[in-house]
Order: sequence, then C-alpha cells, then structure tokens
Amino acid sequence: MSESRAAIGVDIGGTKVKGGIVSSKGALHSRVEHDTDVHAGTKSIIATVHELLERSGELGVAIGCIGVGAAGFIDSRSGTVIFAANLVYDDPKVAEALKARFGLPVVVDNDANAATWGEKIFGTAQGAANLALLTIGTGIGSGFIVNGELLRGATGAGAEMGHTIVDPSGPLCGCGLKGCFEQLAAGRAIARLAREGVTENPESAIMGFASSVEDISARDVARAAAGFDETACRVLRRAGQALGVGMSNVVNIFDPEVIVLGGGIIKVGEPYLGPARDQLVKMTMSQRRRPVRVDVTSLGAESGIIGAAALAFDQAA
Ligand SMILES: [Zn+2]
Repeated sequence: MSESRAAIGVDIGGTKVKGGIVSSKGALHSRVEHDTDVHAGTKSIIATVHELLERSGELGVAIGCIGVGAAGFIDSRSGTVIFAANLVYDDPKVAEALKARFGLPVVVDNDANAATWGEKIFGTAQGAANLALLTIGTGIGSGFIVNGELLRGATGAGAEMGHTIVDPSGPLCGCGLKGCFEQLAAGRAIARLAREGVTENPESAIMGFASSVEDISARDVARAAAGFDETACRVLRRAGQALGVGMSNVVNIFDPEVIVLGGGIIKVGEPYLGPARDQLVKMTMSQRRRPVRVDVTSLGAESGIIGAAALAFDQAA
C-alpha cells in the first residue's frame, strides 16, 4: 500500500457508529456519526463505509484499507463477531461482508483493542512495546499490547480488565459477577456512591446539579466537586482509589511502560485522577517497583476511529 493512501476507520458501539477517513500520519480528515441500528450492526458499518468512500471521492483521497473496532468478543483472524452484549450483528462475518462489498483489505477487532493500537501508532504511547489502555465510561474497556502485539486471548474474549474482581462482596455487575473493577471505579460507581452520599448528606451541592437522586450523573458530581463540595470530592476520591487499585493489578500482570487513560469519565479530572495516581504510586512503591507512566489519551474522543484506521494500516488483509 502506498504511503499517501488513507484508511477508513469505523468505531461501532451499542448506541453510535462513528467513522472517519484517516491519513497515514493519523490525521482525521472527514468524520461521520449515526445511531447504531442495534438489530443490524453489520449494515450500520457498511452504510458508514459507503458514505466515507463517497466522501473520499469528493476529497480526491485514495482509500487503501478499512479497519473496524467493534464492541464485543471478536475473532480478529477471521474478522467475525463471536458475541456482543448490546448489539445484534446481522452478519457476524463482518470482515468478509466488507471485503465482498468494497474489494479492499479489511481488519475487524474489538473496539478497545483498536483504540489501544491507535495509542501505540499515533497517540501518547508511540513506540511503546508494552502498554495498557483503560477506557473509562459507564464501564471500563481495556486493551493491552505485550511485546509489541495486541493481547487477544484464545477466543478473542481476552483483555477484559473491567470484569476482574476488586471486591467479591461488591455490587452486582451486568456480567453476573460481584465487585467488578468497572462497578467500583467508573461512571456507574460514581453515580452509585453519589446516591449513597446525598442520602447521608442531603445538603450536598450535588443535588444543585441533578434533577433527582436517581438521575445523578458523574458530570453532576464533577461540577459539585469543582466547588469543593465535600460529598462530591469524597465520592470521586473513592472511585479514583479503586481505579488506582485496578491499575496496580495491571502493573502486577503486565509491567507496562505506560498506562493510557481514555473515555468520558477522565474529563472529571484531578479530583478523580489524582487519588488514582496516588493509590497506584502507594501500591507500586510498597512493592519497590519502578514508577509506571500514567497518561491521558492524546487522541481524545476520536481514538476509536483513529485506532481502527491504525490497525487497518498495519493488519488489514
Ligand atoms: Zn462485571
């Protein structure tokens, strides 16, 4: 493939399908976003690629390959979706369907894996041979690169850090287990801890931002914490400390050069990330480990699109 050719990157989740034209230097040239058809995930991907190919014609950009990052368990060798929790793929053989339709090399992988590859090729972890990405939203997605290669597991279901157990007596998770990392450290945990917090302290400033106790969001808690509300700060500190515990587990298993943090919840900022870093330092220092770098993604909200394109440049077939 010639250096000047661009790739199409597609990032499909349970609510949105996003795509873009990405240059071989990682620049995003054109972007589209639609609601996912939750009963026809593959059709949603094909429609997005079709739209971007038309745009590439108008822009005079040659497309050399297609990369897809998809929510779920993916067999990346065949580009087949094995299982997806919130989305039906009308044709699980996504790579085959795209190749037949567009006649270009294709790679399909788990969305977190694609984003992790993007960090290595174009992002804050450029050149790192060992890195971890934690994407913190409502839950936690994760990807790992070990000795320069993505960790995919035997069946494509590996690297699910969000469902490792941090507290066996903790809250029930949608995956069927109790006390999963994502139940204690991500957006859902912040909302739950805040509901408990305002029940104890009804005068908390959190209720000045939320319409009801049931509707408290991480953003409401972040706003209250920005005004130094004690309950809000305590909630973010507890969730942040749980993130630090999870990161120390990552360090114990993978010994990465860098842990990259992405996802909407990192916008909460220091009241959450500070305690996470402190907890990680405390736990790694007690083990006399060398400090590990913790960075926030430099690819921002588009890391899924750019990562899928990065994977296409390197691994589409
Ligand atoms: Zn779980």
